[in-house]
Order: sequence, then C-alpha cells, then structure tokens
Amino acid sequence: MKFQSYWHDTAPVFAGATQGPVEGHYDVAIIGGGFTGLAAARQLAKAGVKVVVLEAERVGWGASGRNGGHLNNGLAHSYLAAKAELGIERAVSLYKALDASIDTIEAIIAEEGIDCNFRRAGKLKLASKPQHFDAIARNFESVHREVDPDTALLSANDLKSEVGSPFHGAMLSKKSAMMHMGRYVAGLATAAARHGAVIFEQAAVTAHKNGNGRHSLATARGTVSADHVLVATGAYTPPVFGYFRRRIVSVGSFLIATRPLTDAEIAITMPGNRTCVTSMNIGNYFRLSPDNRLIFGGRARFSATSDQSSDAKSGDILRTSLLGIFPQLSMVEIDYCWGGLVDMTKDRYPRAGYVDGVWYAMGYSGHGAQLSTHLGMIIADAILGKADRNPLKGLDWPAVPGHFGKPWFLPLVGLYYKTLDRFQ
Ligand SMILES: Cc1cc2nc3c(=O)[nH]c(=O)nc-3n(C[C@H](O)[C@H](O)[C@H](O)COP(=O)(O)OP(=O)(O)OC[C@H]3O[C@@H](n4cnc5c(N)ncnc54)[C@H](O)[C@@H]3O)c2cc1C
Repeated sequence: MKFQSYWHDTAPVFAGATQGPVEGHYDVAIIGGGFTGLAAARQLAKAGVKVVVLEAERVGWGASGRNGGHLNNGLAHSYLAAKAELGIERAVSLYKALDASIDTIEAIIAEEGIDCNFRRAGKLKLASKPQHFDAIARNFESVHREVDPDTALLSANDLKSEVGSPFHGAMLSKKSAMMHMGRYVAGLATAAARHGAVIFEQAAVTAHKNGNGRHSLATARGTVSADHVLVATGAYTPPVFGYFRRRIVSVGSFLIATRPLTDAEIAITMPGNRTCVTSMNIGNYFRLSPDNRLIFGGRARFSATSDQSSDAKSGDILRTSLLGIFPQLSMVEIDYCWGGLVDMTKDRYPRAGYVDGVWYAMGYSGHGAQLSTHLGMIIADAILGKADRNPLKGLDWPAVPGHFGKPWFLPLVGLYYKTLDRFQ
C-alpha cells in the first residue's frame, strides 16, 4: 500500500516553477499554490498583472491534491439550516456560488485544455438511517423549489440501480461533478504560468511586513515585495498569519483507495458511478476514480495531524467503514492511504475578503474543491477593482474562543459528534 495521495501519484508533476532566488517587486503576491491561489494567479496574470505565487512545498501539495475528488454543487449544509443561519439572501447567493464554481471549473478546463477527467456525475446524499431520509426530503423540497430544480429525491428502491448498499433513500444533485484533482491542479498551475504568473515552489513564507501599503514577504530563498497580498493557505496557514489561525480549525480528513475494481465489482457496488456522501455527522464520502478504484474518505478520527502514522490509523478505521457499507468488497486490496487537513470554520461557512491589509479566501470546511477556484477568481477580480461578486462579503468572522492555532479541543468535538450520531 502507498501512503500517498492517489491524485499526487497519478498526475503529471508541474514543471513550470521559477528556479533561483525569490526576489523582485510584484503587483500581487499570493501565498499558497492550491486551487485558491492558482486560480487567482491565473486570473490576475491574464489581466496583465505582475503576480507571484509563493508555495511552501509544491503546487497542489495541500488539500487541493489530497481531497476526495467531489465537485458537489449546492451547500454542504442543509439549505434549510443555511437560510435560518445566514438569511435567505445570502443562503441563496452562496448556493448559487457553489453551482457557479463548477461551471467556472468546466470553463477553465475547456479554455486551458486541461485533461482531468471532468464529468457531471451527479451527487447522492445518502440517508444512513430512516429518520435521516425525512430530513433529506424536507431539505430537498425547499432546495428543489427555491434554488435548484436539477435535483431529485430517490427512494431506497430507486437507489438499487445506484449504490450496492441498503441506504434509506437519497437526494440527487444532478449538476455535481467529479474530476482528477491532481491533473486539474497541475493544469491550473501550468495555465497560470503560461499567462505570466511567476510560481516559486519550496518557498515558505516565514515573515510578513506591511508598511505604507507595501508588503514584504520573506522566505528562506529570498524576499519579495508586493502592493497586494492574497493569503490562500487554507488549513495550512502558518503562525505568521495569526488572525486566520484563530479562526480556522485545521482538522485531519483521510482517504483510502482500493485497487481498480472489475466491471462485476462495480455493478454490485457503484453502478450509478456518482459522488456519494452519507448523512452521518461523522460520515463517509466515496466515488470511483478514473481507473475504477473506490476512493473512500471520512473524518475517521478527530486528529489535528495528517502524517503516515495518523493516516495509517485512520486508514484502518476507513477500511472497516468501507466494509460496513460494501461487505462485498472484503477481498479487495487497499492500494492507497492518505490524508490532509481541512480548514474548518466554527459555523462551517467559508470566508473571503480583505482584513488587516491582506486579501484572503479560506475556511471551505471540507467543501472547497469547487468553491476555491471560483473564490480565488472573485478575489482576483476584487484586487483588479472589478465589481465585487464575493458571496461572503461582510459575513462576520469572530475568532474561535480559546483557539490560537492548535485545536486542543478536537477530541471533545469528536466525542460530541459521535454521541449525536448514536442518537440522531
Ligand atoms: C482529505 C480531504 C478531502 C477533501 N475532500 C473534498 C471533496 O471531495 N470535495 C470538496 O469540495 N472539498 C474537499 N476537500 C476540501 C478541498 O480540497 C479544499 O477546500 C481546497 O482544496 C482548498 O484549496 P486551497 O487552495 O484554499 O488550499 P490548499 O490546497 O490547502 O493550498 C494551501 C497551500 O498553501 C501552502 N502554504 C501553507 N503555508 C505556506 C507558507 N507559509 N508559505 C507558502 N505556502 C504555504 C500549502 O503548502 C498548500 O499547498 C477535502 C480536503 C481534504 C484535506
């Protein structure tokens, strides 16, 4: 078994990074080479702006190269809850931004010729318990009527041709998609560089100064200055940006991938070939890879770290969960096990905007594979002085009480959700 992201292992390595010292003055400096940073860099470079991306490792090293590969439209939250929490106007605009995110990705792929197996597969939100189906049906009714007619409610019987496991019904979101995340992120970086963005890898920002509107960003390979800075470091945000560290809770999320399934195995597990998410609080998400592996993920443990030892422990739990759903795969080997950090906010809504002299977009809370590209471009447009399309503008973002970067409270949160899952 490889302790490595399947997406990293099966994608071309980005070959357009700038070598040599990190130096010069730029209109915009972007910290972080994931979807957010690269999409912003491409947008700015296309507009003729002098832009630099500083990436601590290599492009796509973070969540963008480690996720489940689901491009789900609509909110991860219940839409009913979002209306109550955010008000109808913002709930609708956020729902639509997530829809638009997938259109944005589809357009970039076409425009830049990125070969990344993009497919409008549709997403199933699967009811793990009978009572969960009632909640899914109530939410569906409102979603379907108010924001997304491309949805359907499926009964347990309808699901027989979709998933080879006895779920209690599902909501189908037809606009949701899937793609090869590693190929997309490498393609996005290549496109940004082709449009003129300078991308430095192995260039972790260790210090930031902001004086008279001129920023200075230090790395071990040199220092750049810039008129604008975009912080696009998500769950990996370094201590130098304390404001965000007090608001983002970085939580491990983990995945395993089986060996490629045979046609007969697909027919008894994933005949519908869609992205699937279960309705438990500590739930699972799964899909088939382009080469027919079952990629199966979840927040197996509430851990603040993702390294080989943490990933392996989570991988064991995930395998048990996988066999709980698909016992018919008990003889199928696991080829990959990996993890990454998710940038949770307290209310699980993302945040984007401008604070303390820097731009930012983060806090996708495990649902940013699509929105990160879109928000990266929206923030780039805001830097360019274009009309502000930020669906999160003005959304209050208080610090998490008692949180200064290391989430000591994760085991308690895990216990809370486990208890909820037992009784809900
Ligand atoms: C295991 C897992 C599964 C997920 N599954 C899904 C899914 O199926 N669907 C979905 O919608 N979302 C999913 N997500 C979330 C999604 O992947 C993220 O929301 C999205 O990739 C965020 O992109 P980003 O560019 O903001 O951050 P990232 O991709 O994390 O990029 C941040 C980058 O900043 C760099 N960085 C950090 N510190 C510094 C520094 N000091 N200097 C320079 N660079 C620095 C990091 O190296 C990193 O490359 C998942 C996330 C994880 C971890």
